[in-house]
Amino acid sequence: MINKKTIFLDCDGVVADWITGAERLVGYRLEDPKQFYPEQDWIKIKNHERMFLDLPLMPLAHQFANLARRFRDELDYELVFLTAVPNYNDMPWAFYDKVLWAQQHFPDIPVHFGPHRDQKQNRSEPGNILVDDHPDNCTQWEAKGGTAVNVPVGNEIQGLQELQQLFDRKRSLKNLSQM
Ligand SMILES: [Mg+2]
Repeated sequence: MINKKTIFLDCDGVVADWITGAERLVGYRLEDPKQFYPEQDWIKIKNHERMFLDLPLMPLAHQFANLARRFRDELDYELVFLTAVPNYNDMPWAFYDKVLWAQQHFPDIPVHFGPHRDQKQNRSEPGNILVDDHPDNCTQWEAKGGTAVNVPVGNEIQGLQELQQLFDRKRSLKNLSQM
């Protein structure tokens, strides 16, 4: 059981570039996290069984991970990835490959699973932080009392800046409490 406050980093859209990975298979970018691929394109994606193992890094992936590590190392948070598998669990390698992918790029950050997207909110409680590209995940998280930082598709720097501001505020509070 996790007793510490926790910062949860989403994978796809924050550190793993799902949109580009899918573009390689269907030929276009679906940049709205609320949209679904048409059935014939979803079949192309799910037929690429090891899709999650091959995903490229997001451009700011290491910046997000490094800043999240500062919550862990300087503010005593637990740090884990919180990711989801596809809605119908129709990519059987997803769990295994998401763990392998994370271990390859960020071996110090364990992977937890929703396991589905709308179950991420079950980890929310006051003090816990979610960093996620899906606006609904952030809304659900905040409704349960946690703090969410949305990482907008195409404007990831805005999410990184917001997370930096949150870190700065929490570090200032910590410093004040130690005076
Ligand atoms: Mg995501």
